[in-house]
Amino acid sequence: MDNNQRINCTVTSCKHNNKQYQECKLQEIIVTPIIGCETKQPDESMCSSYKFETEKD
Ligand code: SF4
Repeated sequence: MDNNQRINCTVTSCKHNNKQYQECKLQEIIVTPIIGCETKQPDESMCSSYKFETEKD
């Protein structure tokens, strides 16, 4: 990634999460809207790159 973006994340149940540093280990993630959610709050978006700890790639 050209701009060395860092993704801070506290979703510790995700296999891509570096729990010690509360960061995502991926170079990039996909964020998608929650269909039908129009709260104008952060819950309108979610990380679609999430994988549960034990899930295979
Ligand atoms: S993939 Fe998404 S949920 Fe998982 S650590 Fe990265 S940003 Fe967080």
